[in-house]
Amino acid sequence: MIKLYNSLTNKIEEFKPIKENEVSMYVCGPTVYSNIHIGNSRPVVFFDTVARFFEYMGYKVTYVSNFTDIDDKIIKRAKEEGITEKEVSEKYIASISATYRRLNCLPHYKNPKVTETMDQIIDFIDDLVKKGGAYIVDNDVYFDVSKISEYGVLSGQTVENLINGARIDTNDKKKNPIDFTLWKETEEGIKWDSPFGKGRPGWHTECVVMIHSIFKGMIDIHGGGLDLKFPHHDNEIAQSLCMYNNKIANYWMHNGRIDMGGEKMSKSTGNLIWANDLLDRISYQVFRLIILNVPYRQPLNYKEELIAQATNDFEKIRRAYVSLYRDLELNYEIKKVEIKASDLVNIKNEFIEAMSNDFNTANAITSIFNLVKLINNYIRNKETSYEVKEEALELLKELLWVLGIEVEVSPLTKEEKELVIKWADARGNKDFELADSLRKEITERNIVL
Ligand SMILES: [Zn+2]
Repeated sequence: MIKLYNSLTNKIEEFKPIKENEVSMYVCGPTVYSNIHIGNSRPVVFFDTVARFFEYMGYKVTYVSNFTDIDDKIIKRAKEEGITEKEVSEKYIASISATYRRLNCLPHYKNPKVTETMDQIIDFIDDLVKKGGAYIVDNDVYFDVSKISEYGVLSGQTVENLINGARIDTNDKKKNPIDFTLWKETEEGIKWDSPFGKGRPGWHTECVVMIHSIFKGMIDIHGGGLDLKFPHHDNEIAQSLCMYNNKIANYWMHNGRIDMGGEKMSKSTGNLIWANDLLDRISYQVFRLIILNVPYRQPLNYKEELIAQATNDFEKIRRAYVSLYRDLELNYEIKKVEIKASDLVNIKNEFIEAMSNDFNTANAITSIFNLVKLINNYIRNKETSYEVKEEALELLKELLWVLGIEVEVSPLTKEEKELVIKWADARGNKDFELADSLRKEITERNIVL
C-alpha cells in the first residue's frame, strides 16, 4: 500500500488510483525565460522519482509537466535581448529540456505549452463567463471568487481573511480584491484575438486547461513546489470547481523549498546556483543524492558540504557496485552453497516500505546503504554463491533506478580478465613483487576494480 501526504486534506492517505494500476500526474513546470536553478530542480528530481517508484510498483504512469511560454517575464526578456518571445521561450525550452536529461529524468509523457493550447484556453474562459463564474471589465476577464464556496480550500484560507490580508489594490475594476485575472488586455508584447479583446491569458488558467485537454477529466496527482500552493493551485482548483465541479486531482503534493544561506533560493534576489553550473561540477548521481537525502516536504538548506557528503555516498555505492560486478565477471566457478537471499528480500521490502511511506527517499537511501554493506560482505565472503551475488547486483541496480541513479561499468576484455586473475593469483601466492607490477598495469589500463 502506497501512502502519501495529501496537501488537500493535510493527511497521510492511502493512494487509490482512478484507474486500476495507472497513475496520472501533472506537475507545474517552469516559466521559460531563464534556465532553472537548484531550487527549481527539486520538484523535477523528486517527482521523477515518484513516477519511477510507481512504475517500479507496476503502475502505468502518465506524467505531464508543462512549459509556461507566455509570461510578462518572457516579454521583458525578449525586449532586453531584441528577439521575439517565441525565440526566448524556444531557447529556454531547449535548454531546460537538456537539463532534465542531464538530471537523468525519464521523458515526460507530454510537455504542453500555453501557446499550443490557446484555443482551448480562450474557450475555457469564455465558458467560465457564460457560467457566471467570471466577468468582463473593459476587455479584461476576472474570476469571481465569491461564486465558489470552497475558495482557498487547498491553502486552508478563508475568503474573509484573504480579503482582509489583500493589499489595497489600485485595480478597482475587480468586484472583489481577491478576484484573479483570467485574461488581460494588452498593448505590449505577444497577444491573441479573443471574444474579450486582444490580450493574454493568466497563468492560473493555463494549467487547468492544459491538464484538462490532455487528461480529459480528473487526475490522480497534481504536484509542484510549496510556493505554488497559494494562489496558483487554489486558483486552479477554484476554476475547476466552477467548470467541472471537481478539484482537478485527488492528491495534491508539494515539495519544500531550497534555501541557501538561510534565505529562499530565488531568481528575483539572485540568491541561487544554476542547475547546469552545479552539474558541470558534480555528476547527476551526486546531484540527485543531495536532493533525495532530505525528505521532500522538509526545506532543504543547500550548502557546499552537502556536495562532499553526497559525493562520498555515491562513491561507496559505486565501489560496491563495480566490485560486485567484477567479482561476478571473474568468478566462473559456481559454488554449491545454500542460497540465502532472505537478506536481499528484507532490504527490498525495507526500501519499498520507505518509498510507500510518503516517498521517504532519505530512508530509501538508508536501505540502499544496507544493501551496500551486505554486498561488501558478500565480496569478502568467498562462500556466497554466484546466484545470490547476481541477485544482489540486480537488486542494487533496480533500487538505484528508482532514485534515477545509474552506475556505469563496462565489461572487461578477455585480456583484461586474464590480467586481473593473474594479479589475484599472485596476491594469493604472496608473490608481492609480481602482484605490485600487475596492479600497476591494471591501473595504467584504467581498469576499475
Ligand atoms: Zn500550474
